[in-house]
Amino acid sequence: MYLAEDKAKASTVQPADGHCADTVDLMTAATAPGGKWQTFPNSHISHHGAACCDIAHEWLIAFDYAQLNGGDVLTGPRWMREHSKWGPTAWPIHWCEAVDADVVDCGVHAAIAQEAFVARGVPAFRAQFIQRYSADATASWRENWDKESVSDHWIDGDAIYHEGNAVLVGTDEVKLWDGSAGWWINPRGEMGYGSLAAVRIEADLEGFEDGLRWGERRIKLNQWVAV
Ligand SMILES: [Zn+2]
Ligand SMILES: [Zn+2]
Repeated sequence: MYLAEDKAKASTVQPADGHCADTVDLMTAATAPGGKWQTFPNSHISHHGAACCDIAHEWLIAFDYAQLNGGDVLTGPRWMREHSKWGPTAWPIHWCEAVDADVVDCGVHAAIAQEAFVARGVPAFRAQFIQRYSADATASWRENWDKESVSDHWIDGDAIYHEGNAVLVGTDEVKLWDGSAGWWINPRGEMGYGSLAAVRIEADLEGFEDGLRWGERRIKLNQWVAV
């Protein structure tokens, strides 16, 4: 995840002072389904404007195509999770760095998966999730992110902000891809550990005022919808 403020403050904040998120105002009313992430932007990988990033981008499209090996274009790109494990990413990150990294966060996984789906000719959109975990789980993640001096603004108590993709599988039906987990999120809403509390699909689509269908639900576009 990337905030302009993070970048601006990165040079003035000592790592020992803590993470950048401390200084970013995320205190939007927590009553909305999006909580403190109400207006949080999707992560976008930067481009050096040079061959390094062009080549990295081409490599990932070609590699995804090879991994697909003639299979269904709606096959989830699980190879990404083997290629780079889920963990802290320092933002901003460029394509040549993102494709090379052994450890990346869900923002990188989602940005890469997005390129792969689109290159396959599959309409796909960026999706944001809020998931329920436990205070123990989020505390250990906070520790890992702090160790790398990476902002842990994606954690709030026992809830986390997470990124993935919404992939169009019919005229108005989507499947939600969680690239860091390497699976499609089950639309039969469960309440337990790791379950989805809210989703926001960022899509610029005319004629979908009622949103897109996900399982039994309709998810209105560009707003947080409680699940
Ligand atoms: Zn580059
Ligand atoms: Zn995440």
